[in-house]
Parts: sequence; structure tokens; C-alpha cells
Amino acid sequence: MEKYFTDVSEFVDYLELPSELKSRAEQASQKFSFKVTKEFASRIEKGNPKDPLLLQVLPTESELLEKKGFVSDPVGDRNASKRAGLLQKYKGRVLLVITGSCAINCRYCFRREFNYKQVPKTTESIEGNLRLIEEDNSVEEVILSGGDPLMWKNMELEKLFKRIAKIKHIKRLRIHTRLPIVNAKRIDSGLINLLSKVNLVIYFVIHSNSCNELSPLVIGALKRIKSVGIPVLNQMVLLKGINDSVEEMEKFLRLQINNHIQPYYLHQLDKVNGATHFFVPVSKGRKLISELRKRLPGYAIPKYVYEKKGFTSKFPL
Ligand code: SF4
Repeated sequence: MEKYFTDVSEFVDYLELPSELKSRAEQASQKFSFKVTKEFASRIEKGNPKDPLLLQVLPTESELLEKKGFVSDPVGDRNASKRAGLLQKYKGRVLLVITGSCAINCRYCFRREFNYKQVPKTTESIEGNLRLIEEDNSVEEVILSGGDPLMWKNMELEKLFKRIAKIKHIKRLRIHTRLPIVNAKRIDSGLINLLSKVNLVIYFVIHSNSCNELSPLVIGALKRIKSVGIPVLNQMVLLKGINDSVEEMEKFLRLQINNHIQPYYLHQLDKVNGATHFFVPVSKGRKLISELRKRLPGYAIPKYVYEKKGFTSKFPL
């Protein structure tokens, strides 16, 4: 059985949503394609157009709105690019983009207009970028990003991990991925086995935004990652109608810490074209954080940050 919905009409029918949503969704998906795993879709409440998981993946006419300040490259990826697929924004860390593909297309994605065409996407073609990393011994951490790096097959990942581990000054490997959340089976024994053998300190940074994303199946997948000593950190984006209420966020953070998932960042929305309807003002985000501090232990509070073009670190809010 196909793992994904890529036909938005089929998806709308499956969720028993009003059929007038179809034409608007089809129009919006011309700009940024529609894609969602069937596993993620199965956690969406049927007939509920406000379901927080649905809102993250369903293209809407709001994406066609243009608004001042919303641009194609909100975080300055273009300027940070040393070479196609190799970005450096912060000291000691580089971002290796190895694919443009994801298992789910989040409508607010800050890279929804990123030019992935030039990015090298095979172990062989990435070699040029790895040599550049090798030449710069101020770099001690490689962050795999995309797209989603776990779209690669285990065999290819294994070759890449081994190659990165050969670079003497690289101490840590960070994997930014949403795959455990949207296709928990991707965290298979082959992947766990190869992760357990990598001669680097590994951090898994997942991305989830609301309670129903962390299903029992997902929690099980994350446990498998942690079973080989890899910490799991979660980053989320503050999204209107999805996680911008104190009650929802409190429940979600509690769910994370009760399952050994470390809340990491709460990102202020990056102002990318097509995402205007997800925007939450900073003043509201700050109130949210200060209320959460009264309700939860300090380690449950994510760092509320904004990524500013050209800055040498994320900007605390
Ligand atoms: S999984 Fe990440 S990179 Fe892929 S569309 Fe969602 S936010 Fe963007």
C-alpha cells in the first residue's frame, strides 16, 4: 500500500471534509506540493477542519496571500551557502543538506521555496562538500538537514556516517528529522543498529508541534533511538490555531518530558511566503512562555527563539 497521500482530493475525501476545500487546496499546492504520510493522516480527526495536524498539511487559499515582510528566504540560507548543500551560519557547526525530499510537506516550512535542484544528493556527489568540511578544522559538528535526511536508505546513511566520522575534528553529528513523527516505522532495527555503531556523539532533533503527533507508535520509535544512548530533542514552531494556547502547549510539553523527550526550541515562525496565516505575534509567544513557567519545571520550557538573517546565533525572545 502506498505510504503517502499526494492527491489532495483523495485526502479530503478520506478525512470526510467539505469538498469545496479541494479546489482551493489544489490551487495552493501548485506552489508547494501536497504530501503527507498515511500514518500521520490516520491521527487526524475525521470531519474536523480545525484539527491541529490537518492545519499543518492541508494547502489553503491563505497560502496565496502576499504580505509585506514574508519572503522566499526568510532565514538567509542563500547567503549562508558555502556551496550547494553546505551552509554555515554559526561558529563550529555546518549544515549539510542532503536531500530536498520530506515524508510530509509542512505548509509553514521555511524552506518551501529553497532551491534544492543544485544540492548534491548522493554519497558520491556530497564528497566535494565533505572535503570542504575536512579542510576547516574549526568545525566540530555536522548537522544533517534537508528536506529530511532519513529519506535516505540505511545503506547510504551508513556510508555517509562512516565518512563523516573519518573527519578528525568532527565530534558530533546532529540529525534534524520529522520522520519518526510521521512514519514511525522508519526507525527500524537496521537504522538503530547502524546508529549504535557510529563513532560520533549523535543528537536526534525531531520536529513536532502538538500532542497527537506523539502517538504511542511514535513514542516507541523514539524509545528505540534513546535505547542506544542518543538524546532526543524536540523543536516546534509557534503556529496559530495549532499550539498557541497555554493549555495545549502545557499538555504537549508535559507529554514530552514524561517520555524523556527534551523540549529544545520553540521557533517564532519564519516569515516565508505562503505562511502568513500561521503567524503568532511575539507578544503572545512571550506571554505563553511566561505562563508555562508558572505551570511546569524549568527543563520543560523550550527556548523561544527567532532566526535573524546574518546573525551569529539564534535570537532569544
Ligand atoms: S519536514 Fe521539515 S523540511 Fe520537510 S517540509 Fe516539514 S518543516 Fe520543511
